[in-house]
Amino acid sequence: MSTKLQGVRGMNDLLPEEAERWEAFEEIVRDWLRSYGYRPIRTPIVEYTKLFSRGVGEHTDIVEKEMYSFEDRLNGEHLTLRPEGTASCVRSVIEHNLIFQNPQRLYYSGPMFRHERPQKGRYRQFHQVGVEALGFAGPDVDAEHIVMCRRLWDDLGLDDVELQLNSLGDAAERATHRTELIAYLEKYQDQLDEDGKRRLYANPLRVLDTKNPALQEIVEAAPKLIEYLGEASLKHFEAVQALLREAAVPYRINPRMVRGLDYYNRTVFEWTTTRLGAQATFCAGGRYDGLIEQLGGKPAPACGFAMGMERVMLLWQEGLDAGPLVSPDVYVVHQGEQAAPFAFRSAELLRSAGFAVVFHCGGGSFKSQMKKADGSGAAYAVIVGDDEAAAGQVALKPLRGEGEQQAVTPEALVELLADRLYGE
Ligand code: ATP
Ligand code: MG
Repeated sequence: MSTKLQGVRGMNDLLPEEAERWEAFEEIVRDWLRSYGYRPIRTPIVEYTKLFSRGVGEHTDIVEKEMYSFEDRLNGEHLTLRPEGTASCVRSVIEHNLIFQNPQRLYYSGPMFRHERPQKGRYRQFHQVGVEALGFAGPDVDAEHIVMCRRLWDDLGLDDVELQLNSLGDAAERATHRTELIAYLEKYQDQLDEDGKRRLYANPLRVLDTKNPALQEIVEAAPKLIEYLGEASLKHFEAVQALLREAAVPYRINPRMVRGLDYYNRTVFEWTTTRLGAQATFCAGGRYDGLIEQLGGKPAPACGFAMGMERVMLLWQEGLDAGPLVSPDVYVVHQGEQAAPFAFRSAELLRSAGFAVVFHCGGGSFKSQMKKADGSGAAYAVIVGDDEAAAGQVALKPLRGEGEQQAVTPEALVELLADRLYGE
């Protein structure tokens, strides 16, 4: 026997039970997105590497150490498996001229790739649902994003979640802050780690984003960007907060929050929980008014957010009972040469009428087939032997709860099942 093959570390299989939960989650998410007027966009998983180095930022964890980048052997192109969705979404919208007539409310969902150390809630292939509002400048859309998150957490029954909010101001405000921050960090240059030293001049704001516990004290006392905000940025930030208060969404201002990607300005937010260990943030986003221009589009404001589906699923599943979510309405059991084709046709008839039907394949005694029927979670078994087939009938037998076995024609079965499953 040859050796067993394994999946790639940090890239997970979703087995049927879990995959069904994901589908149930995706349905809730789709309804929720529709209820706010967001429309889907699907972009490729592979993009040119420079989209992310330009879009996400050269001096970010993602671009410096986490991307799966490779050279196409056939034409030497530099390509990357997408580590996030915003850059691709903006690239696509610019390329296809989507926003310059009308602003757009868009969402995407799918796998992202980052080479990180796998642990609970942190994988190398993970999934995000992302929401982008392109072409909207006002604070109302920032608040819309936060309020819609709150609604989803409520729909999913998540508690123990906290909203952290900050403003990163505009480019000029960040420039003033940057000078002060560099001056401050220079005093601690010897104590900074390798990342910190490298980013000190290249992108000092990123130093504040460190996860190194040894640097927390230094970072805590650093000049806060929020104290450098001018009138317009403050007004925008105030307006977002007023709308949140209006919607009764509690928040905490965290002046240290800078987000891990370079494209943000003004409002940034993170939803955190204490229940996922170090992977505390399960949804994050904010405004990125400069990105469209930076990626070659006509300047236009934008904001958005992304949630990590694995992390949200971990939180959601805590509150759910185990056991299969999805089971067929009917399991068709049959034995005999005449019975098989008759049962096969009857199963198709039921499916045409909208029922979920599993047809037994692989033979075996009635008894062993009935065991399979029971194990499938189906509400009813439809039983066909040669005698029934000769009489043009099938037998309907309830597998859960009360009820007699009943012989009917396949056409009458449709009525009977509808009545049993959906009648009072
Ligand atoms: P973290 O600080 O946990 O590394 P991040 O700031 O890199 O997160 P974002 O780029 O903002 O994350 O991505 C948005 C969301 O995607 C995160 O809040 C998280 O829920 C999820 N996410 C990010 N990286 C991973 C990963 N490697 N595995 C699973 N989920 C992830
Ligand atoms: Mg990260």
